[in-house]
Amino acid sequence: MKKKINRLMLSIAILGVLLISTFLTTVFYGLFQSQVKTDIQTDVELLQETGIFDDPSSPGMPIQVRDVRITWVDVDGTVLYDNEADARSMENHMDRPEIQEAFRDGSGWNARESGTLNRSTFYYALKLSNGTVLRASKTAWNFYGHLLGMLPAACVVLAVIVIASVLLARALTKSLVQPIEKMAETLGSPDPVPAYPELAPFANRLRAQHDDILRSAKMRQDFTANVSHELKTPLTAICGYAELMENGMTGPGDTERMACQIRKSADRLLSLINDIIRLSQLDSYEEDLPFVSLNLGETAEEAASSLMVSARSHKVSLSVRAEKDVMIIGREEMISELVINLTDNAIRYNRPGGYVHVNVLKKDGKACLVVDDNGIGIPKEQHDRIFERFYRVDKSRSRETGGTGLGLAIVKHIVMLHNASITVDSAPGIGTSFTVEF
Ligand code: ADP
Repeated sequence: MKKKINRLMLSIAILGVLLISTFLTTVFYGLFQSQVKTDIQTDVELLQETGIFDDPSSPGMPIQVRDVRITWVDVDGTVLYDNEADARSMENHMDRPEIQEAFRDGSGWNARESGTLNRSTFYYALKLSNGTVLRASKTAWNFYGHLLGMLPAACVVLAVIVIASVLLARALTKSLVQPIEKMAETLGSPDPVPAYPELAPFANRLRAQHDDILRSAKMRQDFTANVSHELKTPLTAICGYAELMENGMTGPGDTERMACQIRKSADRLLSLINDIIRLSQLDSYEEDLPFVSLNLGETAEEAASSLMVSARSHKVSLSVRAEKDVMIIGREEMISELVINLTDNAIRYNRPGGYVHVNVLKKDGKACLVVDDNGIGIPKEQHDRIFERFYRVDKSRSRETGGTGLGLAIVKHIVMLHNASITVDSAPGIGTSFTVEF
């Protein structure tokens, strides 16, 4: 940052000095030129007043003027007199622009390059009353001369500006960076103070990220604690029964009962582990895996029919009604899992003689899956919580029916991966309806 500011300031300084030098030279040169012009004009007018140049037939009166060259030109362009050269050896002056102008308009002005690059000669010619032209000329600094003259001063100014801008850049960087460094120190806190109002979005973003990290750390912690707890219960039961059998503390018929309990607990462990693995698979699911176009009705029908046996054993009637060609973009095994989890819940949290309807339809152009039952229902205040991992309304019933408390968490995950939405409508004793909109 320091380097960048330094470079920027130096460029501005150099450009500034160059522009100002050129500008000032232009202005001063303009003033200087008009001053030279006025000077030689005055010289010519004064000489005219002296009467020396009244009679062209008697030229040659020497005049002493410093720095000014005087040339007297006759009506045909021949030089009558020149104070710096022999007039007779001089060429005809009719071709000089200022002399032509003077013959034509009464007076003429011109500036020409002198022998050296940084000097010019300025001419003023005046037509006298006798028809001849009197010209004065002076050699002085031209534009480049002035510019070169300005160069040492410009270099000094530039050096001063360079030193000043290096010092200023250092101070500026320090004052700019200090608040950012302070902000960096508070970044670890949940409420980082933005160094500048312009950095507020950045600070907010960091704050949001910080909150997210905390939230997901807390979730992971809760999840680990819950998993350990959930795994512990069936394992404790298995150990307990095994110990009883080991010590021969079983009466007639007990062995079978205990073996059955051990098997049930082992089944529970297996389904828990399966669900946990499934959730972690969904967590690390890569978004760019291919989604395909699939028939929601057919997928739902197939999935629900795998639960017919379970429905019969719960004495619940299970029916599927699907509109034709309700297509979605998705992953078949996930959609199938979603239907199975919802339908399985509807069967398990039901009562003998109850029903479960799986419906696939199109609503407002959107593909919908509705799983309806007239089972035990869910109290309104728990509707939001049932999607949390390991949350159960009725723990013992869930456990008895082989629930893990993860089924709806998996459903919610799949819904999110499909950019869909899920809503629940339920009342205790009346029934439950889950609607997934794609
Ligand atoms: P579980 O494995 O315990 O069924 P879920 O995550 O699938 O866990 O469901 C969470 C809780 O939501 C269940 O324990 C149950 O109390 C309630 N629930 C889910 N579906 C239904 C339903 N169709 N009817 C009544 N209660 C339900």
